[in-house]
Amino acid sequence: MNLQPEKLAYELSSPGRIGVVLPECDVPVTALPKDMLRDNLPLPEMDELTVVRHFTRLSQKNFSIDTHYYPLGSCTMKYNPKINEATAALPGWRNTHPLVGAEFSQGAIELMFRLQKELNLIGGFVAGSLQPAAGAQGELAGVLMIRAAQVARGQSQRTKMIVPDSAHGTNPATCTMAGMSVVQLTSDADGAIDLEALKAACDDTVAGIMITNPSTIGVFERNMKEIADIVHAAGGLVYGDGANMNAIAGIVRPGDLGIDVMHYNLHKTFSTPHGGGGPGVGYVGAAPSLAEFLPGPIAVQENGKYLMRMPKQSIGRLKAFYGNFAVLVRAYTYVRMLGEGGLRKMSENAVLNANYLKARLEKTYPVKYPRRCMHEFVAMGNIAEGVHTLDIAKRLIDYGFHPPTIYFPLIVPEALMIEPTETENLETLDAFADAMLKIAEEAKTNPQLLHDAPHDTPVGRLDEVGAARNPVLCYRS
Ligand SMILES: *Cc1c(COP(=O)(O)O)cnc(C)c1O
Repeated sequence: MNLQPEKLAYELSSPGRIGVVLPECDVPVTALPKDMLRDNLPLPEMDELTVVRHFTRLSQKNFSIDTHYYPLGSCTMKYNPKINEATAALPGWRNTHPLVGAEFSQGAIELMFRLQKELNLIGGFVAGSLQPAAGAQGELAGVLMIRAAQVARGQSQRTKMIVPDSAHGTNPATCTMAGMSVVQLTSDADGAIDLEALKAACDDTVAGIMITNPSTIGVFERNMKEIADIVHAAGGLVYGDGANMNAIAGIVRPGDLGIDVMHYNLHKTFSTPHGGGGPGVGYVGAAPSLAEFLPGPIAVQENGKYLMRMPKQSIGRLKAFYGNFAVLVRAYTYVRMLGEGGLRKMSENAVLNANYLKARLEKTYPVKYPRRCMHEFVAMGNIAEGVHTLDIAKRLIDYGFHPPTIYFPLIVPEALMIEPTETENLETLDAFADAMLKIAEEAKTNPQLLHDAPHDTPVGRLDEVGAARNPVLCYRS
């Protein structure tokens, strides 16, 4: 509840109020260059309590996993265990500097070496790189690796990537950024890849395929091995988008299914916090066919010492220094905490939770691909005259839930993509399902309630296009 009207820090200012008294300077005082200093810098002046209230209030306007249920499909908004924060904040990690060199960073490089090993074991790969800062950057690495390998084989005419229409939006974008062209494959009525269409698309200009499994519609691609065989026989390589590992980790190893290179999202499956573009890691794992092309440097162990090495035919660096190191500490903590059996249970519960919600909702919100789902499912929101998915999403906010992903994937009209994650209990799943069913009733009896939602937020429906085109990024009185 906001007892005070909304004010910006500048408006709370009162001349002469002091919040902090700076400690004595403990280094020699040096004059600053005159031309870089301003005499007139109107910083807000206020007492400490006002500052604390201001920022605490701002923080509470945010939706977060720590405060609310967050079933945002494709994003795996699972709970981020607090022990991850404790280990990432250990002084040895926190205070180390990337420029001190390998000799004084043995612990940090050992952690990276061990994490690489765990992730390779989980995915069925022989090597991998912790450099990429996001899933999309892992994709870019993988497609550049495929391109480099084809060129090294004397196959530089291979400039096409096959991408199914059920792919994550980043897949075709990645191919384009990597200078490749995209051949789109249409999914069949079951949401699977059409093998005949795939065979027809495979010629000697195809560098490879990008395939998301489990796919973006939340189903497992059963013909994965056959798909990989067809592409390999045609001289192509297979990129796996492993962002949906939360459904299969500890159960299936993508490397065993014929995938040559794959990214995992440590900030999804391996519980490091994400959102708002915050730091992530898109680990790329590789089979022997592509391991030498990985981005680097990679942590290796030689003569009892840990070192960072560039793979022989590396596509190069993607990130400065050691990448997003604190994310690596969190992911390592998580993997070690769960262990092999725990990882399997994580995936099984993610799938169980999604199927439970699907079963409670599918009579009211139709599911286009009704097969048993993996860790997420895609329902449809066109449930009453004049009511759209956007209305349902906005009304959910009134009930205290973060809306699911909407209007994605594009192959499902009025899509509502729901990913419960394994960390939610039965009561929360039921409360969410109850709210969804209540909203479906409201859609029939009082649709205006949905059109006007959200009702209780500081701002209502935003002009998102205007905000993107004309962002106001600084304070104006
Ligand atoms: C999230 C996601 C990505 C992209 O990962 P980012 O870290 O957001 O760049 C790619 N593919 C799939 C299937 C995803 O769910």
